[in-house]
Amino acid sequence: MTIERRERVEGAPGRFIMERYRDLLPLTDRTPMVTLGEGGTPLVRSRALEAELGLGELWFKLESTNPTGSFKDRGMVVAVAKAVEEGARAVLCASTGNTSAAAAAYAARHGLPAYVLVPGGHVAMGKLAQAVAHGAQVIAVDGSFDRCLQIARQLAAREAVALVNSVNPYRIAGQKTAAFEIADDLGDAPDLLAIPVGNAGNITAYWAGFVEYRHRERSLRTPRMWGFQAAGAAPLVRGAPVEDPETVATAIRIGNPASWRGAVAARDDSAGRIEAVSDERILDAYRRLAQDEGIFCEPASAASVAGLISMAEAGESLRGLTAVCVITGSGLKDPETALRVPTVRREVPAEVGSVARALGWS
Ligand SMILES: *Cc1c(COP(=O)(O)O)cnc(C)c1O
Repeated sequence: MTIERRERVEGAPGRFIMERYRDLLPLTDRTPMVTLGEGGTPLVRSRALEAELGLGELWFKLESTNPTGSFKDRGMVVAVAKAVEEGARAVLCASTGNTSAAAAAYAARHGLPAYVLVPGGHVAMGKLAQAVAHGAQVIAVDGSFDRCLQIARQLAAREAVALVNSVNPYRIAGQKTAAFEIADDLGDAPDLLAIPVGNAGNITAYWAGFVEYRHRERSLRTPRMWGFQAAGAAPLVRGAPVEDPETVATAIRIGNPASWRGAVAARDDSAGRIEAVSDERILDAYRRLAQDEGIFCEPASAASVAGLISMAEAGESLRGLTAVCVITGSGLKDPETALRVPTVRREVPAEVGSVARALGWS
């Protein structure tokens, strides 16, 4: 018996985004089609929160399952490929952590050096480990993310390196594919998209993706965009940059978002909102996601869920609506925050009676 090789199906789910959405991306015949398996992430239905919030349907888009554990891979796979196509010799970024992890991985995949600037002392351990493991040169800067980005922009202007922050339009182009996938999976765009906002590239990308899909008649509508910032880093809510942003959600610890105008346009053009949520609420949502939904995300990701809960409590009617929360990054990125909760007990003797007592079973 011979087993026949099946034809690849055009547009099949699971195929990597640069192939699946090729017609919607700025690719040429010369763009190297290099992948680490990004995109095609699960859309998982809520078990507990959906009914509690009175939503018709609540879904979580698990961007935490991308190769380096965050949505940054969608933008980075395109940005680094285009950098290679355009002759760059290296990539450079400023990062709160996940951009550096993705840049380092895709640079390694293409055989390019990566240089990353991070705000000293404010990057979650897992992310730093990734950048170091992939061989990036990591410079800890005594300043905020916003300063790191200013410096990276100046360096990129005078050296032959590609700046792969979300000011790079290829990053935004790649990140739009998450909106395409959501519309493909649900059969249309949802009523509401809830998303954490830091440098604001992602909310800008999702909105562009939903608008483009509707224009091309691959979906019938666009969602209302609900963006959430951490209360200590909420420049878009305040309407002015924040000098010293502070939050446990280090991925959104940003005081002067590069895509400010994109975020405001996404909010206004979609009749949406951008609101602030406290660290306490972020950590509460973080625990609820892990314990009531089985989803372990990093604190910044939980801002989208904290925001939905806050809106419901503030009297916003969610009845019957379909909402998608973007789970932007994995909880494994930031084990220190997870272990801050005093639930890991001290060691007990290796003996059944002691273990049973420690469990409270005797
Ligand atoms: C980058 C990042 C964000 C913020 O996205 P922006 O495009 O900067 O607004 C949120 N969550 C995680 C996990 C991130 O890595």
